[in-house]
Amino acid sequence: MGEFRPHDRNDLFRFLDWLPPSRAVETPIGPAVYRSERLAARLGLDELYVGLNGYAPERGARNPTGSFKDFEALPTLLDFRERGLKAIILASAGNTARAFAHAATVLDFPAYLVVPEGMLDRLWLPIHPSDAVRLIVIDESRDYAAAIELAARLSVQFGIPPEGGARNVARREGMGTAVLEHARVVGRLPRHYVQAVGSGTGAIAAWEAALRLRQSGQVPGELPVLHLAQNAPFAPIHDAWTRGTPIRPHEDVPGQLARIDRITADVLANRNPPFAVGGGVGDALRATDGTTHAVTNEEIAVARRLFEETEGIPIGTAAGAAVAALGQALAGGRMSRDESVLLHITGNDDALLRRDYALHPIQPWLRLRTDDLAPERIARLADRFA
Ligand SMILES: *Cc1c(COP(=O)(O)O)cnc(C)c1O
Repeated sequence: MGEFRPHDRNDLFRFLDWLPPSRAVETPIGPAVYRSERLAARLGLDELYVGLNGYAPERGARNPTGSFKDFEALPTLLDFRERGLKAIILASAGNTARAFAHAATVLDFPAYLVVPEGMLDRLWLPIHPSDAVRLIVIDESRDYAAAIELAARLSVQFGIPPEGGARNVARREGMGTAVLEHARVVGRLPRHYVQAVGSGTGAIAAWEAALRLRQSGQVPGELPVLHLAQNAPFAPIHDAWTRGTPIRPHEDVPGQLARIDRITADVLANRNPPFAVGGGVGDALRATDGTTHAVTNEEIAVARRLFEETEGIPIGTAAGAAVAALGQALAGGRMSRDESVLLHITGNDDALLRRDYALHPIQPWLRLRTDDLAPERIARLADRFA
């Protein structure tokens, strides 16, 4: 590790030395960073860089499922394969499942993806999904937490290696390439880093990548201040950071599910983010003198219009939350206009992919109900997982 010496190639394996897999594959996946003019002028920022990590080939972003989850999926499956593992299982609210379905298809590596039925309409790929993709749908559910629980039980019952969430090094280091690309393009660290968070893994990844860049001694700049955005009225990371409210993942927390139902940036609806654990989101915020922002649906809608109007690229709701948070941070005096900012646009969904590709829906491989979580019922699925 040590030295920061990006390879001469046009994808995330430019940073192969700092990623877990030892060998790269051909891929369009990778981070893109460019300097904003129009949004920067509108906000009055001297130096605003946009990390555009969805799909917008006009900006150099060619991620096939339209979000930075592509940075995570491909290195993870390559790493699993190198370690001799035969399959992976994970839960997703949508974007992660798309990214893993794509990587599973490209690498022909079996991936069991557990998703709530409510997310089914966003499960598509710009290529034909292969048999390696095993989509497990929980009927009549919109709840990501139920998917997490079912994935955990199936993993134990049938011995399928779990993806690992924030503990997955390939995931964190894949996501951290957004900051590495900024360092490569700009030659130093940004003073501020702005991202919408659900689990907060992307933010932990940004912090860790910045630490490594500083340790390399080759990239100047202080540790970037993290500005993390969530969507009110469901903002557990914001509430934990600003008010000390403990993370309470269970369904019986009064009003929690109803609040989740009200947010438009639903990829951020993670009820159990790694906040208090060592090396988690809380530590990342403390170490970087960071801050959190809760933005409303209305603020997100306004921010998405502003971004599309100024930068010419449509963005998703989560990325809209980041743009809104940038506005809040400026208005609240949390950054000054002459400090450099990396605004992480984590995704733009299918907006431009639909223009360039036919999108293929991913068909369910198995449909379950929440009561199938009972141990005796799970055992009955043995045939399917044999
Ligand atoms: C997953 C996701 C996020 C949040 O990332 P975390 O690492 O879970 O905090 C933000 N934006 C988009 C588009 C995502 O898919």
